[in-house]
Amino acid sequence: MSMDTEVLVVGSGPAGIAAAATAATHGREVLLLDDNPAPGGQIWRDATAVQEEPDEVKRKTFLTLRVSGARIFSGWRVFDAPRAGVLRAINDGGAEIHAIDVSYEQLVLATGARERFLPFPGWTLPGVFGAGGLEALARGGLSVTGKRIVVAGTGPLLLPVAAHLRQMGGRVTTVAEQASRRQLARFSTFLSSQPRKLIEGLQYRAASGGSRYRPGCWPVAALGTDKVESIRLTDGDRTWEEPCELLACGFHLVPNTELAVLLGCSLRDSFIEVDDAQRTSISNVFAAGEPTGIAGMESALLTGTMAGLAAAGKLDEAKALLPRRQKFERFAARLKTAFALRPEVLALAQPDTIVCRCEDVTYDSLKGYEDWNDAKRQTRCGMGPCQGRVCGPATEALFGWPASSVRPPLFPVPLSVMGACPNRPPQKQ
Ligand SMILES: Cc1cc2nc3c(=O)[nH]c(=O)nc-3n(C[C@H](O)[C@H](O)[C@H](O)COP(=O)(O)OP(=O)(O)OC[C@H]3O[C@@H](n4cnc5c(N)ncnc54)[C@H](O)[C@@H]3O)c2cc1C
Repeated sequence: MSMDTEVLVVGSGPAGIAAAATAATHGREVLLLDDNPAPGGQIWRDATAVQEEPDEVKRKTFLTLRVSGARIFSGWRVFDAPRAGVLRAINDGGAEIHAIDVSYEQLVLATGARERFLPFPGWTLPGVFGAGGLEALARGGLSVTGKRIVVAGTGPLLLPVAAHLRQMGGRVTTVAEQASRRQLARFSTFLSSQPRKLIEGLQYRAASGGSRYRPGCWPVAALGTDKVESIRLTDGDRTWEEPCELLACGFHLVPNTELAVLLGCSLRDSFIEVDDAQRTSISNVFAAGEPTGIAGMESALLTGTMAGLAAAGKLDEAKALLPRRQKFERFAARLKTAFALRPEVLALAQPDTIVCRCEDVTYDSLKGYEDWNDAKRQTRCGMGPCQGRVCGPATEALFGWPASSVRPPLFPVPLSVMGACPNRPPQKQ
């Protein structure tokens, strides 16, 4: 199957929705494609298990998308870029598997971010989830009612996760934030210049009330036989155990840049490099949202609007929004400093701790390799179904190995799909 469009947007979180709606409103033919069952991305994921307050920003954003005329393809995952100006996607959610080649004139990458996981003893036990991952599962229907939950790790996501899990009936006992009280105090002082964000944080703190919020506290081990039964926490001076049935644990976010790298876009500090109008190093490819900087939903909406304007040829209008983007860039820089990983959490893995859970590769067996490619070749680390999405950022943090190669397929796809698609030109080895 193949089709073409003037503007193709990959990712329908806030950034992708804003980009698609803006480009379509400016008269472009737009296709918005995303691997989830419905638009919304991480923050506006469909919630079956929670009664949410009406959200005016969300309502307006979806309304703008609806009236813009952009076509929406949900449930399609881009896994390859077989030729210049063409992306290949798969839909395997139904009884049949379909693949499609989409040709575009302009492309907007709005592929979001994912959680960073760091290995520690017991982190692969059933009942241990990513923080945002557990929230997403609970929103999708996994019952957390009455379950004793500890939320741990680092980053601004921990508080909303704790608040939402409580709202869905979970008994969140502790939120363990590895950043020190002093770092958080500095961050709060900075936030006083962005009162909306400060109020949002305080609201989440209030909504997660009843649970202890412990700055300067991190997980040492998840304990249990067949599933997690307790978590060992430390504040550096004291170590103690807390019983839990679920552990929601994530160490801030890392950008999804694999598709950008496959296309040949340049990165800067692990993010897609963009100019003042969200244009990447490839002239007809733009990027928006978290792959260009982790700064939250409002920033994603703004950079999505800029990318949509630029893709529609309205470069001056896009650049006019730059001062607002710069404000979010300052916020992103503060987030990075406030939630920087302390050395202790980078030293949690023991020799027998699994680092690559797809291929069962232990910490000990990774020591001694020079880089990610060397370790991959010798141990199969990063060669399983997640294609290094989990262990890649972990090994980067633990060993300083930046992920250096991306190859198609970006996600596992059935052989029948690979066989049925027209061949790619041979790749240089
Ligand atoms: C697990 C998780 C939970 C979060 N929960 C919250 C929360 O509760 N509250 C909050 O304030 N912030 C939350 N955030 C942060 C939030 O994601 C951002 O603030 C904001 O939504 C980012 O918007 P975005 O459009 O850049 O990316 P996203 O919202 O992440 O949207 C990106 C979309 O692109 C899709 N995609 C990526 N690659 C492909 C591909 N190859 N093919 C097709 N589709 C693709 C993704 O599936 C996703 O739907 C969460 C983040 C994560 C990672």
